[in-house]
Amino acid sequence: ASWEDGGDYELDATGEHVEAVRVPTLAIVGRPNVGKSTLVNRIIARREAVVQDIPGVTRDRVSYDALWRGRRFTVVDTGGWEPKVDGLQAAVALQAEYAMKTSDAVLVVVDAMVGATETDEAIARVLRRSKKPVILVANKVDDERAVSDAAQLWNLGLGEPFAVSALHGRGSGDLLDIILDKLPETPEEIWDAVGGPRRVALVGKPNVGKSSLLNKLTGENRAVVDSVAGTTVDPVDSLVDLDNEVWRFVDTAGLRKRVKFSGGMEYYASLRTQGAIESAEVAVVLVDSSEPLSEQDQRVISMVVDSGRAVVIALNKADLVDEERRDQIDKELERDLVRVPWAAVINISAMTGSRVHRLAPALRTALASWDKRIPTGQLNSWLGEVIAANPPPVRGGRQPRVLFATQAANRPPTFVLFTSGFLEAGYRRFLERRLREEFGFEGSPIRINVRVRE
Ligand code: GDP
Ligand code: GDP
Repeated sequence: ASWEDGGDYELDATGEHVEAVRVPTLAIVGRPNVGKSTLVNRIIARREAVVQDIPGVTRDRVSYDALWRGRRFTVVDTGGWEPKVDGLQAAVALQAEYAMKTSDAVLVVVDAMVGATETDEAIARVLRRSKKPVILVANKVDDERAVSDAAQLWNLGLGEPFAVSALHGRGSGDLLDIILDKLPETPEEIWDAVGGPRRVALVGKPNVGKSSLLNKLTGENRAVVDSVAGTTVDPVDSLVDLDNEVWRFVDTAGLRKRVKFSGGMEYYASLRTQGAIESAEVAVVLVDSSEPLSEQDQRVISMVVDSGRAVVIALNKADLVDEERRDQIDKELERDLVRVPWAAVINISAMTGSRVHRLAPALRTALASWDKRIPTGQLNSWLGEVIAANPPPVRGGRQPRVLFATQAANRPPTFVLFTSGFLEAGYRRFLERRLREEFGFEGSPIRINVRVRE
């Protein structure tokens, strides 16, 4: 096997990637059995790469899509690249050469329990010449005691060894931050594919029916579209035709394959949720309405709101809900969703398909709110009236004046109020409420920032 027949990985004559839009690429190198695949699984937060105890096991894919803090990058696992040149050292050195030429940063994995071997040194010799950033990972640091073993890897001359346990996840969040630091920015056009399908995350705690809904949507609606003119489609996303519009459901690979994790479930679930939300514009939060609304449901909703994404709450399993339970849910929503009284709520049954057609209109409403811009003139004439009728409360003998407002951004709508003094939280909430009443923002969070001018 070689890089060239690695499937979805292409090189042109200059050794650069051939891709419509170039996503930053991280190559993982290291000798067999140091834990490269295990680490790749950590990084991509999916259990896709096969991990086996046999050194040098051939793997069918070499390139994966990763997402962290809203940024996409490609991970190339050189584990699938089998040594066939004379001897392991020559082979891994060549592997490191390729990695340097074809990626934006190279991550080299060393087994900290074993320490630096001659093969590791052969790799390091190549990488020391690299003009691209190199990240040295000391793997299998499963506990605090092993940290000193990691420190010995300084002598590879590749800078600070970064201690992780790919197996247990130790240090993996910090490592991902370091990777993002070393990679070039993801090109803007990946995020703002003008005219491209709108990006939707399907989230919710386990067993609420996410896979069932995705299957329903892709099964019953004019098939999954495989390619949309002018856009590159990430294999981890699903394009779905709903109500005469193509939508991009992000990071659905795990849902499609109905991957159920045994260990570390919570970790994977929350990583997927955060990742999906950040790469989406709007999130459908699925809730099992046959059960009481839980803290976990609320947590997912908060994640969406805190990420500044539009939200549609879909109360699923409506087929299991009777009149009495319906009343109960309404009460629970009123009591527990105080933060998001503006969220769009729909009742659906992923199993029977009942009311699933309500989803597209609800998504459109939420996105229209999320995109909305209020002209400054209109905003200020409304503000003038509200403030005249309800001036901000006096504080310390002084009445703050609200001088001027402007919408600084959309997606989500973000307003800036210029004032002559501090505005209490209660008054800011009052203004948000009135702003929503006047202009509508159903399904979208809005932000109000106050700037005090002395
Ligand atoms: P690769 O050949 O470099 O891709 O290595 P693998 O990912 O296949 O891992 C080789 C072996 O090391 C497997 O048995 C893994 O379970 C184990 N392993 C990987 N990471 C760790 C770790 O952080 N700690 C421990 N104790 N074992 C690990
Ligand atoms: P996920 O973990 O969120 O992807 O949930 P699944 O799609 O795997 O669904 C979990 C369980 O709920 C499965 O047994 C589904 O058949 C069931 N389920 C999903 N949607 C509905 C629904 O609308 N009504 C009923 N009665 N069961 C459902």
